[in-house]
Amino acid sequence: MPAEAAGIYNEAQYEKSQKYQKVSAKFSFITSAFSTLLTLTILWLGGFGWLDTALSIYVANEILLSLAFFGVLFILSDIINIPFQLYSTFVIEEKFGFNKTTIKTFFLDKLKGYLLGALIGGLILGVLMYLVGALQNSFWLIFWAVITLFMVVMNMFYTTLILPLFNKLSPLEEGTLRTAIETYGAKVNFPLTNIYVIDGSKRSSKANAFFSGLGKKKKVVLYDTLIENHSDDELVAIFAHEVGHYEKKHIQMGLVLSIIQSGVMLFILSLMIFNTNLSMALGATELKIHLNLIAFGFLYTPVSMVTGLFMNLISRKNEFEADRFAVTTANGNKLAEALKKLSADNLSNLTPHPAYVFMNYSHPPLLKRLAAIKVEVAKVS
Ligand SMILES: [Zn+2]
Repeated sequence: MPAEAAGIYNEAQYEKSQKYQKVSAKFSFITSAFSTLLTLTILWLGGFGWLDTALSIYVANEILLSLAFFGVLFILSDIINIPFQLYSTFVIEEKFGFNKTTIKTFFLDKLKGYLLGALIGGLILGVLMYLVGALQNSFWLIFWAVITLFMVVMNMFYTTLILPLFNKLSPLEEGTLRTAIETYGAKVNFPLTNIYVIDGSKRSSKANAFFSGLGKKKKVVLYDTLIENHSDDELVAIFAHEVGHYEKKHIQMGLVLSIIQSGVMLFILSLMIFNTNLSMALGATELKIHLNLIAFGFLYTPVSMVTGLFMNLISRKNEFEADRFAVTTANGNKLAEALKKLSADNLSNLTPHPAYVFMNYSHPPLLKRLAAIKVEVAKVS
């Protein structure tokens, strides 16, 4: 056990965390290797073109054909993934004590996800196909506006419309915690309209907290698992960190970056969407827009890897900023305690390789955050 881990893990917990990291990493390697092999096989056999030809026998309308094509692909790939998801939830997470999901909740979630996916995905894909047909090369500008509107609406209504389909949200009851959070909110002039508790414990013992709402009305959502394991002071410090994201405009910045990103993506898509060679490469004999969307999905991967790196870089910087805000307006030592507990409860890796962090982490590793908090606490006191 490294010296820095003392005070976070005891010897047994540290060993458990290493085992968990090892098992998870191995499993995710197997899953992605399997899915890569499957994709390559389908490409090699011209499976996408075959599916398109098979469906065109039954569906003549171009937009409906695209919806059927993606619907079948989505359901097939999800069914293939079910054994992996079951193993991850009911074997790995179960073994390490995280899993609280029942088989019933698991499949009910799937069903709701299918319905929601059919509704939202179908609508967006339908609009895209219609615009491509009607506007040809300039479809991307109008579709960009549609997507932007969709992202803003989702941001505004996620907590009120989507979340209640999967979880129960109840207002935080009156008491010391509510008073403490409200007192802090008033102190930093935060427009808090309501504090909700979500039954995260229905699925996992892992904890979280987040904000929702873009404009003046802010809601904070705390996981019941978070409230269970932390003192009021620690929860106020976590809340202060979230307020930091708001005060430093990270949420708006993230939304703007996503909008720019999707604009760039759609522009590149517009250069490729009418290329007959792409359809042929996937096994068709003529231009098919939905096949080209699949081809674009593959070809765009290296670009999205680079933009993902950039987004992670910004996100990690924002985390340090939000921590700094929490230290200066609430209690830095309590924040450090809360982060330590969260890390230990989630069995997170204390010593990830810096290159892995650079590629994959949206949050800085715990020890880096603790060191930065220590510096800030020294400045304040
Ligand atoms: Zn954060």
